[in-house]
Amino acid sequence: MHHQRLALGLGICLLVGTSLSVLWVCVENGLPVSYGSYYLPCPEIFNMKLHYEREKPLQPMAWSQYPQPLLEHRPTQLLTLTPWLAPVVSEGTFNPELPQHAYQAPNLTIGVTVFAVGKYTHFVQCFLESAEEFFMRGYRVHYYIFTDNPAAIPRVPLGPHRLLGTIPIQGHSHWEEISMRWMETISQHIAKRAHREVDYLFCLDVDMVFWNPWGPETLGDLVAAIHPGYYAILCQQFPYQRRRVSAAFVADSEGDFYYGGAVSRGQVARVYEFTGSCHMAILADKANGIVAAWQEESHLNHHFITNKPSKVLSPEYLWDDRKPQPPSLKLISFSTLDKDISCLRS
Ligand code: UDP
Ligand code: MN
Repeated sequence: MHHQRLALGLGICLLVGTSLSVLWVCVENGLPVSYGSYYLPCPEIFNMKLHYEREKPLQPMAWSQYPQPLLEHRPTQLLTLTPWLAPVVSEGTFNPELPQHAYQAPNLTIGVTVFAVGKYTHFVQCFLESAEEFFMRGYRVHYYIFTDNPAAIPRVPLGPHRLLGTIPIQGHSHWEEISMRWMETISQHIAKRAHREVDYLFCLDVDMVFWNPWGPETLGDLVAAIHPGYYAILCQQFPYQRRRVSAAFVADSEGDFYYGGAVSRGQVARVYEFTGSCHMAILADKANGIVAAWQEESHLNHHFITNKPSKVLSPEYLWDDRKPQPPSLKLISFSTLDKDISCLRS
């Protein structure tokens, strides 16, 4: 009797469970699915593959060839190796002769992308003149300037094997809209043109000036520069995107360095991966009505947590002239000009 009741009870439970799940599937399939208007300005970006006409003979970098820290010159407050054993490059941590030898592939070409939209075209002259004096001297360099006003780009005399291309882009009234599209614009440019023309690509801010030599010690597969505002503070205080809903979210327990958005670079295919992935994340945020705390810089920092840079540059390569130079930084190569941001962005 007892067993019969138990079997009956189990049978009823099974029947009810099955009916409920069948009902749920019916309801789910029956409900109309609605998609919000999705921001997809560049669908072809997902299908674009890099097609090389000829393989450029890139010298493979053996691990031992990376500039290694010279112990006697070790800066007192800066790391010289990351926890994942990537070099942190700063003045005195590398032998200037070594990278020159390591990167002597014939026709090795370095690309530079900068945006000069609206009033930022004023910065181009200083940027280019200083780059001609200090940036990758003796190398082939292609500057790509994205601008809404090609006529405003000055003709700065360039050295041998150094070229400048102006790429017209649409201007926007809000600078946030411009920065939202950086990753997309650079991705498209790499796929359409730059991957055939350059081996390494540097994506830099234009409101900056080179003050000292910047050479092949900065080349690597995927390179990031430590932000000048956050190199001496605790990881938990980094201004990562802390809202979980954003694709750029970084938990308190995560993070290595806080990298500056004004400098990112690497081997061109790696930059392509990086800009494509950040663009997708920005699209996902946009679809959810989110703008990350520091826009593309937040996405860049999120990306570098799982895709560790193979080389990290000290803030000497991304300094800010509004800050006093601390003794731990020996030689400032590249820094932001003291500018009135609100005036320029208005
Ligand atoms: N930019 C531009 N026009 C603008 C705003 C920004 O061309 O109206 C480009 C320019 O290359 C600039 C970069 O976006 O260097 C980043 O903007 P900004 O330097 O103002 O940002 P910050 O370095 O102060 O975070
Ligand atoms: Mn800037």
